[in-house]
Amino acid sequence: MALVTTLATILKTYEYSETSKILRLLTRDHGLCSVIAKGARRPKSRFGGLLEPFTDGVATFYAREGRELHTLSVFELRRERQALGGELTRYAGAGLLTEIALRFAPAAPDTELFDQLGRGLDRLLEERGDLETAMLEETWKLIVHLGFAPNTERCCLCDRSVTIGERIQFDLMGGGIICRRCQPLAKNLSLRQLSSTARAELSTLVRGGRGDGRPLESARVQRDLLRDFVAYHLADHQPLNSFRFLEERLG
Ligand SMILES: [Zn+2]
Repeated sequence: MALVTTLATILKTYEYSETSKILRLLTRDHGLCSVIAKGARRPKSRFGGLLEPFTDGVATFYAREGRELHTLSVFELRRERQALGGELTRYAGAGLLTEIALRFAPAAPDTELFDQLGRGLDRLLEERGDLETAMLEETWKLIVHLGFAPNTERCCLCDRSVTIGERIQFDLMGGGIICRRCQPLAKNLSLRQLSSTARAELSTLVRGGRGDGRPLESARVQRDLLRDFVAYHLADHQPLNSFRFLEERLG
C-alpha cells in the first residue's frame, strides 16, 4: 500500500453509504483515480464541505495495488470553484469539461491535460464576455489535446488545400472538411454544411480560439458540430449528458 500525494481536480462525486463519498479525480501525477472519502458526509467531517466537483486540491490517498478504489486520507484545498454553481451556463460548461476529462482522459498521467482542465474551469468561472464562446474554446482545447483535432484546412478526401470562400462540408466520419470537388463522392450521412464564416470560426476554435470573449457568428452551428463531433469520435455516437443540459440552458 503506497501513500500518494498529488494535485487533483474533483470531477464528480457520488454519495456512498450514510456517511461517505466516492470521488472521481483527475490527478496531475496519476491520471484518473477514484477515492473513497470515509465520513465525508458527516456534519463534522475532517474534510469539511470541500469535496465538491470543480474543486482543486492536494489529495493524499492510500493506493492499493490492483484496486480501483483508494482511500482518501487528506484533501488540502487549493481552489474551490463553487461560484460556477451560481450561473447555470457556467456550471453547464464546467460540467462538459469535466465529463470529457472523466470519460476520455488516458490511463497514463497527462499533466498538460490536468493543467488545461484547470485553465478551462477558471476561464468559465471568470469569463466576462460571451460564455458560449468560452465554453466552445475551452472544450476544443481539451479535444485537440486528446488528439482529435479536425482538419479545417485541407480536404480530408483529396488533401487539397481548400480556399477561403469555397463551398465546403464538414464530414463527421472523416473528421474534417470536404472540398467542393469531392462532395459528390462523399455520400454519407455524416456531412454538415459549413458556411465560410462557420469554417473560419471552426478553424480558429481548433487553433485555440480568439480568447476575447466576443460571441461567434456561427455559435449555434459550432455548438451542434462540437456535440456531434464528440459523440462521433469519442463517445460511441451518444451525445454527452452535459450537452443536453447545456442545450436546455442555451436554447
Ligand atoms: Zn477534396
